[in-house]
Amino acid sequence: MKLLLHACCGPCACYPTEKLISDGIDFTLLYFNPNIHPYKEFKRRLAALRELAEKKEYKLIIDKSYPLEECLRGMLAEEMRCAYCYKVRMLYVAKYAKENGYDAFTTTLLVSPYQKHELLMVMAEEAAREVGIEFYYQDFREGYQIGVDLSLELELYRQSYCGCIFSERDRYLVTKEQQAADYAHTDAFGQTMEVKSSKYKITKNIFEVK
Ligand code: SF4
Repeated sequence: MKLLLHACCGPCACYPTEKLISDGIDFTLLYFNPNIHPYKEFKRRLAALRELAEKKEYKLIIDKSYPLEECLRGMLAEEMRCAYCYKVRMLYVAKYAKENGYDAFTTTLLVSPYQKHELLMVMAEEAAREVGIEFYYQDFREGYQIGVDLSLELELYRQSYCGCIFSERDRYLVTKEQQAADYAHTDAFGQTMEVKSSKYKITKNIFEVK
């Protein structure tokens, strides 16, 4: 299988790449994360991924698109900003995979216990249906700690918030109880996202595969 592996950063790519190699899957990394704020942080995460790819000799495709206004508008328009954030990225990766001869796509976001895993799956599956390509699912969370250890060993930059400006604020502002409630809400959200997701039509050129 020729797999396109969306990567959000270096540390999150550590475990999924090792796992895919042990599974005998040929993959290429793709960096596309216009949600990261501020721009300096966007560049820092990209640099960490580059470092990993160079050290491990992984194939890496980089898209430096940074449509800040468009991303903020999209997130603010949604009841759950993460739904927009996941969908934009999964749709881009699915399109890129389809147009460039890959068999399937997946994402390193699936390694993090801090992501809204079920919501991410719904958005990736919907992108796969829309584009007509397979979403390759693995619950990489089982190897989360292995990935953390690997990233420390390689001395990769490790970020302390998810990525968008809202998550940067919430790491200081939101209490642990509120975060727990948010995740609980998310888990119960999977069913209704099918209906809501028809709103996610990406029409701007900045999100089109180049
Ligand atoms: S919290 Fe993370 S997944 Fe959610 S919108 Fe922000 S960057 Fe995207």
